[in-house]
Amino acid sequence: MDAEQLRENAHKMVDFIADYYQTIENFPVLSQVQPGYLQELLPDSAPTHPEPLQHIFDDIQAKILPGVTHWQSPNFFGYYPSNSSIAGFLGEMMSAGLNVVGFSWITSPAATELEMIVLDWFGKMLKLPEEFLSAGKGGGVIQGSASEAVLVVLLAARDKILRRVGKNSLEKLVLYASDQTHSALQKACQIGGIHPENCRLLRTDCSTDYALSPNVLNEAISNDVTSGLIPFFLCATVGTTSSTAVDPLLELGKIAKSNEMWFHVDAAYAGSACICPEYRHYIDGVEEADSFNTNAHKWFLTNFDCSVLWIKDRNALIKVLSTNPEFLKNKASQANLVVDYKDWQIPLGRRFRSLKLWMVMRLYDCYSTAIFVSLFSSSAPSNDETCATKLNLGLLDAVNSTGKIFVSHTVLSGKYLLRLAVGAPLTEERHVNAAWKLLQDEASALLATLW
Ligand code: PLP
Repeated sequence: MDAEQLRENAHKMVDFIADYYQTIENFPVLSQVQPGYLQELLPDSAPTHPEPLQHIFDDIQAKILPGVTHWQSPNFFGYYPSNSSIAGFLGEMMSAGLNVVGFSWITSPAATELEMIVLDWFGKMLKLPEEFLSAGKGGGVIQGSASEAVLVVLLAARDKILRRVGKNSLEKLVLYASDQTHSALQKACQIGGIHPENCRLLRTDCSTDYALSPNVLNEAISNDVTSGLIPFFLCATVGTTSSTAVDPLLELGKIAKSNEMWFHVDAAYAGSACICPEYRHYIDGVEEADSFNTNAHKWFLTNFDCSVLWIKDRNALIKVLSTNPEFLKNKASQANLVVDYKDWQIPLGRRFRSLKLWMVMRLYDCYSTAIFVSLFSSSAPSNDETCATKLNLGLLDAVNSTGKIFVSHTVLSGKYLLRLAVGAPLTEERHVNAAWKLLQDEASALLATLW
């Protein structure tokens, strides 16, 4: 790599991205292109000669940006916030610059050690129990996603119980979660060989604000035990994707413990907010958990991807995920002196992701960062559910096709709802007020067509 060429081109790239952020409000938030649009705009084979960078910038402007949904726009209110920040961006840059592949300690000691240190810092910010920190038997690891996090702990839990009850009992293993739990858990079950009929997604309703009821869990466990099945895994959520419901960790955790089940807490969406003293109570009871996950790339100003998983017994993960091929053997690993993160995750290769988390923690006063979310639901004034659903669907389409804001939807208790998730770093009060006004205006226009 020619350093001068890098300097010149990277400066241009930074200028391009800075301009993008400066003008981000000019783009339609939700991309308005049709499926297959890009195939019409790009040649069907790769170029045979190198091109000037400017041509590519021109193409990004003219052909790529129209097909981008602008997650960093202050008017993005869909799904959940996926924050970026200057610190996160710079950390990504440094990671790309060094481009190490830190699968074992020796492949880049700083990558492993910084990850351990930064996840201990983060664990302390969240006031996680000490067992989750690296000084004892536990520790943290950065995964690419909450889906990977729940998969690896499910595999660890599965093998742990099978060592106890015998490998032939796989078909008898039962897992519990609420019906609001992210579909990532279902995927983990599919990959982990858990019988689909043994995934109990227990009913919730508005009487518990869509949180899992300990009574419902107890009843399900006791029915399964009576039928000769083996409860082995409970997944609770702090901040469900659909409605930010919070499961009662303390009570659920005690049930898991008394049934010798693995207790995983999925706080992918909302967990980062619990560094704020006023929100910490949402994870009270995390002491009972065997593993805890939050996505720093959702609400912790850390550019995608950075999903943080803590586990109390790292050996449970290592037992199920480690391999030791000849070509990876080295003195430090063989002497058991170091952490080799390849044994805590599915892939071998891994990026130096702790750099961006470290930069976020060092460049910002995280505790005073106002983390704020609100969730509105907009229900059309109709007693007829089918009609209300149609109206809300129409409203969603009408609002999103203006390009002014982007909101998404959910279904709760059979009701189709629009959700407005506030949390992009660039969002100010005026953006939220304007979004609310747009929703009201479009709803009035829609209703006017009916009467
Ligand atoms: N769990 C919760 C509560 C989520 O909100 C999400 C993302 O929406 C996930 C899991 C899955 O996240 P990931 O994309 O990191 O796998």
